[in-house]
Amino acid sequence: MFKLGKTKPVMFEQIGIIGCGLMGSSFALAMKKAGLVKRIVGYSKSPTTTAKALKMGVIDVEVASALQAVSGSNLVLLAVPVSATEPTLKAIKHLVTADMLLMDVGSTKQDVVDAARRILGTMLGSFVPAHPIAGKELSGVEHADGNLYTGRQVILTPTAKTKVAQLNQAQAVWTALGCQVKVMPPEAHDAAFAAVSHLPHLLAFALMNSITSQEKGEAFLDLAGTGFRDFTRIAASDPKMWHDIFLANRIQLTNQIDQFKQTLNVLSSLIANDDSASLTSALAKASYERSQWKLADKNQEN
Ligand code: NAP
Repeated sequence: MFKLGKTKPVMFEQIGIIGCGLMGSSFALAMKKAGLVKRIVGYSKSPTTTAKALKMGVIDVEVASALQAVSGSNLVLLAVPVSATEPTLKAIKHLVTADMLLMDVGSTKQDVVDAARRILGTMLGSFVPAHPIAGKELSGVEHADGNLYTGRQVILTPTAKTKVAQLNQAQAVWTALGCQVKVMPPEAHDAAFAAVSHLPHLLAFALMNSITSQEKGEAFLDLAGTGFRDFTRIAASDPKMWHDIFLANRIQLTNQIDQFKQTLNVLSSLIANDDSASLTSALAKASYERSQWKLADKNQEN
């Protein structure tokens, strides 16, 4: 069992960011703001993204491959869609060193840990899988925000081979960015986030499709108010990113879908049968639980 230590964050000579979108670029800006890095090298799939990141001052040097972003870096952050994690690890594995801190920010963790185990070999110890519980429904470098991680939780899911030095360093980095760090096994992470993140996003997407597929759907939407706006905010999220997350966490997510269907069926029967007493008690229970629930972080969005 890992215990977090009290390592102070070191000043990194060079950080390599692979994937200069919302999460990677926000990390770069936050590290610069905290004064924890001298130089940031960035690689992204599209050269237009790195050009924009350079122009915005997110990165200091743009490079043409993931491997070049790793060369000479003390900290490397993978901030790519989870489906791109394994090919990216394959592309960089030759330059991952024993004293480097390698992290990701993927929203699912078991698939990332499995990919790292398959690819990294003896360098698996350098890898600290991470999931910052931060973000927004707007992706891309243009939405990068140096305060994105402030006050948020970060979940670390170390592998059995992750070295304590790297784990402590990862904790020190995220703490220096104003995050609260938790450590848990990847399967526990994926089970929890299937319930409180992946299912709610799926439901928001499903509700939009359910309404817009009806003949009068567009007219209904014209009448919708703030409750509908709040419920469906996350349906505007990046479809490609959520496609990847749903498939990467398919077992836990389908368990949650089954659980949700059962609850919905019960409520549907209570309404169909005009069972006022049971409906009242089911709604009162949900209302009470929601009123007691508090965000673990202030300002947390997704
Ligand atoms: P994003 O804004 O779309 O950024 C992803 C970036 O990675 C883009 O710049 C993208 O392409 C680049 N990319 C894609 N495939 C690549 C590859 N093979 N090699 C190098 N770069 C590649 O998405 P994001 O929101 O930052 O998400 C990044 C990761 O953070 C995902 O794994 C996601 O699960 C996780 N995450 C997101 C949130 C959130 O709310 N957004 C929250 C927590 C965790 P271009 O270079 O073409 O632009």
